[in-house]
Amino acid sequence: MIQKIGIIGAGQMGNGIAHVLAAGGYDIMLTDTSNAQMQKAMKVIEGNMGRQVSRGKLEQVEMAEALGRITTVAGLPELADADLVIEAASEDEDIKRQILTDLGPILKPEGMIATNTSSISITRLAAVSGRPEKFMGMHFMNPVPVMELVELIRGIGTDAPTFDAVRDIVIKIGKIPTNSEDFPAFIVNRILVPMINEAIYTLYEGVGTVEGIDSAMRLGANHRMGPLQLADFIGLDTCLAIMQVLYEGLADTKYRPCPLLVKYVEAGWLGRKAGRGFYDYQGEKPVPTR
Ligand code: NAD
Repeated sequence: MIQKIGIIGAGQMGNGIAHVLAAGGYDIMLTDTSNAQMQKAMKVIEGNMGRQVSRGKLEQVEMAEALGRITTVAGLPELADADLVIEAASEDEDIKRQILTDLGPILKPEGMIATNTSSISITRLAAVSGRPEKFMGMHFMNPVPVMELVELIRGIGTDAPTFDAVRDIVIKIGKIPTNSEDFPAFIVNRILVPMINEAIYTLYEGVGTVEGIDSAMRLGANHRMGPLQLADFIGLDTCLAIMQVLYEGLADTKYRPCPLLVKYVEAGWLGRKAGRGFYDYQGEKPVPTR
């Protein structure tokens, strides 16, 4: 039975995953290489749970209990007795490979590992983990407390008990699982991120302004957010990393990352989490940066 869950990476996704799993009754150990990120994550979780309480979606006492189930820990060795570890660090294969190489020998033999990667091959990451049968993809959507879907991805060696155990967690926390095969970027991002990349090309080529492109897609395609607003929300580094995985993994030039996306990432304009991307978030209202 899964009760103790370790989460590696306390960024936008790690804090959301900690939030929903703690609210679902699991004991969470959250770790990150950055202490500041861990502290920020606890503040964000408290704020987001507080909002759920004020909307009547969570009882005050449930919030206190859930917060009490989340502990921040200093590093991987403290995750040794986790029943499941969810890797939610930056979308960079080298970083993920290093984490999995280090985690493999530390985690108890029956411990399972899931990765929240948006695009990287589950089978390739599973091989590094040293326990491919107990390894799979568990792809939450952003913002985790709000979005209903979790994509589940088997690696070539994932065994049925691991898949079922992870699927059961998704259902227990009230989310809806969907299955995707292990191909670059799976289902959601295979479709979504090239659309975002195309929106950035549309900006790059001067077809429209930031506001023009976003309102066109909101009002004309009935999308809840414009594609550039969504890109900022996801994180431009993550969008670029996903395009690179698609470009290399499918060897098709139609996935070529837009040079303007590359430039924004090189500038450190990573979107909402950095305070600036296609919009500047320093003031009260987001202001387009182009
Ligand atoms: P983020 O930049 O907000 O957070 C990443 C965190 O990982 C940072 O806090 C960083 O300090 C930490 N980190 C980096 N190296 C580490 C290491 N070696 N050990 C521990 N922590 C480390 O990114 P995010 O948006 O939370 O994305 C995390 C993962 O979730 C990525 O794989 C991403 O593709 C995936 N994902 C993102 C979204 C999205 O919309 N942003 C949606 C679904 C999945």
